[in-house]
Amino acid sequence: MKIAKYSMGIGDRFGQQGEAQLSAILAAKKLGVDVTPVWNKSFREHSIIHTEPADTRTAADAAVQAVGWHGPYFVDADHVSLKIIDPFIPVSDFFTLDVADLINVRADPAKIEAFVDRNAPFVGALAVPGIEGALPTTRDLLWHFGEKYLHAIEEARRIYRHVVTQKGHRNFITEISMDETDEPQRPVELFFILAAIAQLEIPVQTIAPKFIGRFNKGIDYAGDVEQFAREFEQHLAIVQFATKELSLSANLKLSVHSGSDKFSIYGPIRKAMLKYDAGLHIKTAGTTWLEELIGLALAGGDGLEIAKKIYRGAFERYDELAAPYASVIDIDHHLLPSPAAVDNWDGGRYADTLRHDRCNHLYNSNVRQLLHIGYKVAAEMGDRYLKALKKYNKVVAANVADNILRHLQPLFIGD
Ligand SMILES: [Zn+2]
Repeated sequence: MKIAKYSMGIGDRFGQQGEAQLSAILAAKKLGVDVTPVWNKSFREHSIIHTEPADTRTAADAAVQAVGWHGPYFVDADHVSLKIIDPFIPVSDFFTLDVADLINVRADPAKIEAFVDRNAPFVGALAVPGIEGALPTTRDLLWHFGEKYLHAIEEARRIYRHVVTQKGHRNFITEISMDETDEPQRPVELFFILAAIAQLEIPVQTIAPKFIGRFNKGIDYAGDVEQFAREFEQHLAIVQFATKELSLSANLKLSVHSGSDKFSIYGPIRKAMLKYDAGLHIKTAGTTWLEELIGLALAGGDGLEIAKKIYRGAFERYDELAAPYASVIDIDHHLLPSPAAVDNWDGGRYADTLRHDRCNHLYNSNVRQLLHIGYKVAAEMGDRYLKALKKYNKVVAANVADNILRHLQPLFIGD
């Protein structure tokens, strides 16, 4: 099983928007670009909403049937470790093995020694086509990378093998993610991470490093765009070089866990992809859920009431809702309107405040992040929320599809 050159990770917290999401992918196809949809939902999301991994599979299959999608698609066991993986295994065919927590946990020194010896041919200067000047590599540096990453990659192999025992070889896509950590992985580190992965024989097809800058949930990139662009290009050069030098899958590509809406870096990503003729997996997160809220607000009536109630709930329960997301949100409390103020808004005002449109002076990234983490409040409404989604499906689906296209266009289609 191989993942195609371009793929997009789409989240659908409540499992209602698969058709709308696919309609955007079909629209991209009409414009000449094939993008493989991959539905991703993490253990964290499942436990907050009280759904099971099997529900993601059911929703994905149903959407594919309903739309008549004939292309490939996948269901991603997103950010899994050995502890939580089991319910994902029968229903997933894409596994994001998350070993970020094990970075800096030291492996057995004998294994680090072996890693250093094995990579001794790269000591000196690593001349990577596309990167100006050779990258200096010493035995000490290799030892340092071994100490930092080897244990994490050994764990990735354990998880991979665990999946193999149940699904067999070649029946799923393997991704390794290291993005949920504070410190970015620089291009030369990525090379030796890939070396360890190749040497431990994990057939990884997508790799998700932590890139420089902040990837907060649902809002734009925060950081130095030029530095990101430079390093992203170098990462692509490393992936291309590593694919040739090491025995890695020929279709290996970067996976960007974007947290959605990183519009300011999509241009540089596309430019670099074209330069290296590289593929990309772009993973988005809760954008679809926010579009549900925008659609409900615009629908008015009970829809708007629900949207306001969710804002109030999220505002009042901030600490509880923010705790699992602390490292990926930056909310300025002083810039959040009071729930009483929001209660007086019409649907247009609610939508303009929430929709990620920097040209609209009402757009408020604090409100957007707060609502992003507020899906627990909607989940607790149960049927009332789900019924409203069905009742106002037309306006909700239009917003969901538009939003997915807003990501596809700058990345895969171009201006
Ligand atoms: Zn991630």
